[in-house]
Amino acid sequence: MDEIRIDNLRIFAHHGVFEHENINGQNFYVNAVLYTDTEKAGTLDKLELSTDYGSVCGLIHETMTENTFKLIETTAQKTALEILKKFPLVESVDIEIRKPEAPIEMDFESVSVKIHRGWHTAVIALGSNIGDRRNYIENAVRQLENSEYIKDIEVSDLIVTKPYGYMEQEDFLNGALVCRTVLSPDGLLDLLHDIENSADRKREIHWGPRTLDLDLIFYDNAVIDTPKLTVPHVDMYNRYFVLKPVCQLVPYYRHPVLNLTVSQLLERLEKND
Ligand code: ADP
Ligand code: MG
Repeated sequence: MDEIRIDNLRIFAHHGVFEHENINGQNFYVNAVLYTDTEKAGTLDKLELSTDYGSVCGLIHETMTENTFKLIETTAQKTALEILKKFPLVESVDIEIRKPEAPIEMDFESVSVKIHRGWHTAVIALGSNIGDRRNYIENAVRQLENSEYIKDIEVSDLIVTKPYGYMEQEDFLNGALVCRTVLSPDGLLDLLHDIENSADRKREIHWGPRTLDLDLIFYDNAVIDTPKLTVPHVDMYNRYFVLKPVCQLVPYYRHPVLNLTVSQLLERLEKND
């Protein structure tokens, strides 16, 4: 990906753990790398097709002077997020913040933090089979829409399906959504759990009745196997109620382990049934 770079932008600000830092302030130096496709702008020579580095410098200045954080970790993260939200052509950013006047009683040049943040594509399955199922699902979508860490949500049609695994329960309402998120897979799973919990979700029977179930199906092309998280979702290719709505949104999305598209997975499942 192409890069637009800002080197050693000096910002006088008040971040720091010590009170004297918050009162007196000091110089911070910011390095930013904006990862973005510049081909169109380069071909047509039009600023509106690229990202205006002057405006980005302005936003960095605004974010770092209108807030006072204890940590440069927080300062860097907040700055990265603001750039990603305000400049839609920027896919990801590196932000490095140096603090050459940090309160260390030794000879040193500077201390710094460097982070990388960017937009990722996530596909999430939605399900409910207790109470006002549609309302639980719509509420969950609204909460995701209200998160500053998520954008560009597209929701599938909702379909009624028979229970899976544990049959002695009501029919499900199922759907899926695709979105862009700046959260890591773990961070996104935590958010999904928070939203489930806010819908009075109780974890009783595995595969049992639930007010709301939010499963992470895909995260970019990531393959993750940890005790807490399996991505792509471990059983998605056996589940009509996942594949059908996901196929409506992203038929061409390729399962990174099975190497089949969602549309091929659905076709295979329908043939085998
Ligand atoms: P299920 O969705 O299989 O009926 P739960 O919703 O109760 O089960 O989830 C059980 C656990 O599965 C969660 O606590 C979570 O840590 C784990 N899990 C692993 N991979 C995923 C994933 N891709 N999406 C959602 N949860 C996952
Ligand atoms: Mg679940």
